[in-house]
Amino acid sequence: MIRERAYPVDPWHIRETRLDLDLLAQSESVFALSNGHIGIRGNLDEGEPHGLPGTYLNSFYELRPLPHAEGGYGFPESGQTMVNVSNAKLMRLLVDDEPFDVRYGELRSHERSLDMRAGTLERVVEWVSPSGQGVRVRTVRLVSFTQRAVVAFLYEVEPLDASARLILQSELVANEQLPPTSKDPRVAAVLDHPLQAEEMLEQRSGGLLVHRTKASNLRMAAAMEHLVETPGRHAITTEGHADWLRTTVACRLEPGQKLRVVKLAAYGWSSMRSLPALRDQVGAALASARLDGWEGLVQQQREFLDAFWDHSDVRVEGDPEVQQAVRFGLFHTLQAGARAEKRPIGSKGLTGPGYDGHTFWDAETFVLPALTYTQPSAAADVLRWRHSTLDLARERAQTLGLQGAAFPWRTIRGQECSGYWPAGTAGFHIGADIADAVRRYVQATGDYDFEREVGLELLVETARLWRSLGHHDRHGRFHIDGVTGPDEYTAVVNDNIYTNLMAQQNLMTAVEACKRHPDLARRFGVDDEEAASWRDAAAAVHIPYDKELGVHQQCEGFTRLQEWDFENTPPEGYPLLLNYPYFDLYRKQVVKQADLVMAMYIRGDAFTPEEKARNFAYYDARTVRDSSLSACIQAVLAAETGHLELAHDYLGEAALMDLHDLHQNARDGVHVASLAGSWIALVAGLGGMRDFNGQLSFAPRLPSRINNLDFSLLWRGLRLRVNVTADEVTYSLRNGGGSARLTLLHHGKEIEVTQVRPVTMPIPSAGPVGPAPTQPAGRAPVRRATPH
Ligand code: BGC
Repeated sequence: MIRERAYPVDPWHIRETRLDLDLLAQSESVFALSNGHIGIRGNLDEGEPHGLPGTYLNSFYELRPLPHAEGGYGFPESGQTMVNVSNAKLMRLLVDDEPFDVRYGELRSHERSLDMRAGTLERVVEWVSPSGQGVRVRTVRLVSFTQRAVVAFLYEVEPLDASARLILQSELVANEQLPPTSKDPRVAAVLDHPLQAEEMLEQRSGGLLVHRTKASNLRMAAAMEHLVETPGRHAITTEGHADWLRTTVACRLEPGQKLRVVKLAAYGWSSMRSLPALRDQVGAALASARLDGWEGLVQQQREFLDAFWDHSDVRVEGDPEVQQAVRFGLFHTLQAGARAEKRPIGSKGLTGPGYDGHTFWDAETFVLPALTYTQPSAAADVLRWRHSTLDLARERAQTLGLQGAAFPWRTIRGQECSGYWPAGTAGFHIGADIADAVRRYVQATGDYDFEREVGLELLVETARLWRSLGHHDRHGRFHIDGVTGPDEYTAVVNDNIYTNLMAQQNLMTAVEACKRHPDLARRFGVDDEEAASWRDAAAAVHIPYDKELGVHQQCEGFTRLQEWDFENTPPEGYPLLLNYPYFDLYRKQVVKQADLVMAMYIRGDAFTPEEKARNFAYYDARTVRDSSLSACIQAVLAAETGHLELAHDYLGEAALMDLHDLHQNARDGVHVASLAGSWIALVAGLGGMRDFNGQLSFAPRLPSRINNLDFSLLWRGLRLRVNVTADEVTYSLRNGGGSARLTLLHHGKEIEVTQVRPVTMPIPSAGPVGPAPTQPAGRAPVRRATPH
């Protein structure tokens, strides 16, 4: 586990100042670079030692058996797993015949630095070989945001004390040996050697490998090329094999002289394109990278990020650790989505093999809120991808005997890949989460073309699912039974409030969108009867409430279940799912992650402030946060109910999830939902931002240690900046032209902001509402009020 402060606090960098081999796998995730299209883990250039090598291409996967101990109707039988593709990171150095390997000789200094403004990972090392020859190695790498098929590396090496013979072997390697990821031999076999060689081409300073997967039938091409600079003579050759290419550069240098190699690599993949077409595609990508060269790529990367930070940066004064972590969170959120372009965003982005590379509701519910307000085109693209999988979701609904579209709980290509239906198919709320993301995007951007092309059909087909999944009882109340809400410790339940309220919103959003596009709605077969049935269902949605306790029930009957014995649950008993049987978790009041609390955020319009306060206190005391998707949402409700210190604590937990490896599984990839969630915790939590019914509103309040919070967001092409101090808030506008104006609510009061007139408003004083929340024994978040 990464100790606190493994990376020194620094506002724009994540730095590692010494190499701890026990933390290698975690830091490979932390230092992973990606543009949403290609992802490379932060493996050491020389490949060894490694925790987990990884190079991933969005939606490049292999099919694998999904074995069920006891089968059942409708169980998916085939899974999808992200494949580790040809590795272009490898640059092995020999110093006077001695391989540069940090496990041998003496590592005099080591520093890696992820620069979040430059979008590069730099490494500077001084190493003395076992035979006493010292070298200084500096490497810099980037995955280009501007040229999405391109990855580039700079490798510089110089001898330190005496002249040395240097051999640099730069490689492209397919089918690398990986530590086993599955205990099931059938699965391990598929993933052991996933790529079949189709073509190899070697040239003097680079070459190309083409491979394809066996079962999913996807083809990929990877090419590399090298630009070499040395003061004297050097020799360069390339050798190839079906599964690897190696370009070797040899030279002899005096101290003070440098070998400088720029390695450009390009990737292309497709389920349809022919081998020559893919070969040409990566050739073109390399040509384009060559045109700009290393300096050009570095400069474009910087410009792309300057533009991003200009409208997305969040400044937090008073808690430098959270400041750094929140930027890290935003950086990884951008990396996950920036160039995903009609492909999904996985729960680990492209930073590691965790969850098989699958996308979940994490994308629509946690990542898209941040992207919608900072990089809206990326949010739209994820929804376009969902739309492209509609036929599969319709088929799945049919298989399940339902109408409309049943989107998969987890997938890469669109088919359901969850082998455990109580925490898979039963998580029907995914449909409403997608609808909510459509609603949010259209509202925030006013992009009605998108609504016509993509949004309406998603809304209609998900509304149809709810109408057929739910039913009216004899009193007319609408129930949705047998589903699993966000809390996976309470499964297959009736009337989960989150699901019901999200379905209600889904149904009403569909009704409204059909009114805006009547012709298109008719083309989708929606008639007045159907729209009326959606309205009726939405109006009659049942919301279980416990009158005696004065709190809502997360699902029907929840508050009468037996309490979990937290006092006698030892710290090593967490996460509970790995230490207690599901049957016991399911029948007790123990909550894995924000569920009703989640509903009170996204559907906050459906609860009174008093209800929120009482519910929050009740459920916080039973929520163990065994999912990384929880703390950020608890931060939002803690802030809304006035428990600002607690909000700060939860914000810290969400933001530091990977930098402190709080769930001890950062090795498998970063937790993108939690990282994007730290933006939610700040903006919706401390900033109190909501967008109910298209009305932008804020209710900022700061905890004691944060003296200034500054964030910006995009709303219908305008950039709104919100600057919060302990007692006042300034709202200002940019990008809109002189006449731009925006009406918003500040703590419930309507104000108008124009480009020429920022508005400063006092923060009304108010204390916490309701009882002080407590957490299950031993599960309180780390306190942030006092610096530690
Ligand atoms: C959580 C889900 C989440 C998934 C992927 C699970 O542990 O309970 O809500 O979607 O992880 O992050």
